[in-house]
Amino acid sequence: MGEPVADICVIGAGAAGLAAGIFAAEHNPDCTVELLDGATSIGAKILVSGGGRCNVTHDVVRPEDFFGTRHLVRNVLAAFPVQNTVAWFASLGVELKREETGKLFPVTDKARSVLDALTARSRELGVVLRPGHRVSGIERRNASEQAGAQGPAEFVIRHQHGETPARRVILATGGQSLPRTGSDGSGYGLARHLGHHVTPTVPALVALMLDEHCFHAELSGLSHEVEIQTMVEGRPVDRRTGSLLWTHFGISGPVVMDASRFWCLARARGETAELYGNFLPGRNAEQSREWFLSQVAQNPRRSLLKLLAELLPERSAEALCRHAGGDPQQACAQVPRAVRDRLMTALTRFRFPVVRDRGWNFAEVTAGGIPLEEVNFRTMESKLVPGLYLVGEVLDCDGRIGGFNFQWAWATGRVAGRAAAASLGAGSDR
Ligand SMILES: Cc1cc2nc3c(=O)[nH]c(=O)nc-3n(C[C@H](O)[C@H](O)[C@H](O)COP(=O)(O)OP(=O)(O)OC[C@H]3O[C@@H](n4cnc5c(N)ncnc54)[C@H](O)[C@@H]3O)c2cc1C
Repeated sequence: MGEPVADICVIGAGAAGLAAGIFAAEHNPDCTVELLDGATSIGAKILVSGGGRCNVTHDVVRPEDFFGTRHLVRNVLAAFPVQNTVAWFASLGVELKREETGKLFPVTDKARSVLDALTARSRELGVVLRPGHRVSGIERRNASEQAGAQGPAEFVIRHQHGETPARRVILATGGQSLPRTGSDGSGYGLARHLGHHVTPTVPALVALMLDEHCFHAELSGLSHEVEIQTMVEGRPVDRRTGSLLWTHFGISGPVVMDASRFWCLARARGETAELYGNFLPGRNAEQSREWFLSQVAQNPRRSLLKLLAELLPERSAEALCRHAGGDPQQACAQVPRAVRDRLMTALTRFRFPVVRDRGWNFAEVTAGGIPLEEVNFRTMESKLVPGLYLVGEVLDCDGRIGGFNFQWAWATGRVAGRAAAASLGAGSDR
């Protein structure tokens, strides 16, 4: 006798997979749901997320917060708006609180409470969680085999402990970020084998490393507001303002993390990519020059450093002064014109000497993946392989920092879980 057939087999028990399993079992309590995960313990990424606090979602979630085919993203998000996420977590016993930035965290400030609630609800519903089950292949049964002794299974899933036949498969293997958590990109190969495409994948929400000759290490730990513009092949592709954090290796902080995907994607395509910083957001070089000259007129003996420290943290001001070849202690009226011009450029259009991104071990998400066009957004079912559903980060959609990537995981998981369960026959319509 062969292995028992699972009605729904979810591959990957991360955020999207757990949500898919729960919603499938809730929607159709008669179906058997199994979650296979290659990691020996489930949910490692949830536990490290949000600095161990898990930024579950965001107060306001808009399609513009994501990079992916806009109308498809919009439709998926509309199927599970953020209020529903909040209510769903409350029903699992996880109350969320809003922080000033709009990010929503569990009131416990512990990611563990999120993971525990998801696994407890899975078990309550009879969803079988199988850690240590790394999947190496998914085979579709052809019609003649399906009609044979193996019953209604349409897929056979090969893993470390043998094979699991399943009627529906939900692929929730995530991307490539933080591979030690189990998300090592192997899901792309599984999807490709079934005929799906995978757009090139690069780290996103990742810090950037600067040339060692830059002054970043001196400023390590300092953060301030910066406007960042990314240029690809000489054309602007992204502009955003937010907090930049100087580190011993380069630059990080939300604004850099959000911008990083553009730099990484361009470099992966072999294009030139440049990152410029305006340390005086809202002012261009000309406006800064005017401001500088008016300050000089008012107080010509004030040092360059004291003057710049009006607008910038003193340490940054000093580093930028030296970078422009100026003497921070020089009276501002004495500053040679050439130095002043270089300083205005450094302040408003500083070219960060980025050498590389910090890599998959530090990236929070993956840009690229299975094209959204290859799934039906109403069900998350593959348009190429009936009975296969695709959810979460394995898809070509990444959100900006702030809880958006989890929202994508919960929303896609819910849509797919319910649709897969409904496709198997009678089910409640909660
Ligand atoms: C350090 C860090 C902090 C983050 N913080 C936040 C945050 O606060 N808020 C936010 O919104 N997002 C955050 N993210 C991003 C968020 O964690 C992911 O976008 C989200 O977890 C994606 O969910 P997923 O279920 O699609 O994939 P994952 O959570 O990556 O889960 C995929 C699962 O599939 C399993 N798997 C992979 N391949 C196989 C295979 N072949 N066989 C069996 N199992 C397999 C893996 O073991 C893993 O458990 C963070 C990410 C990182 C790395």
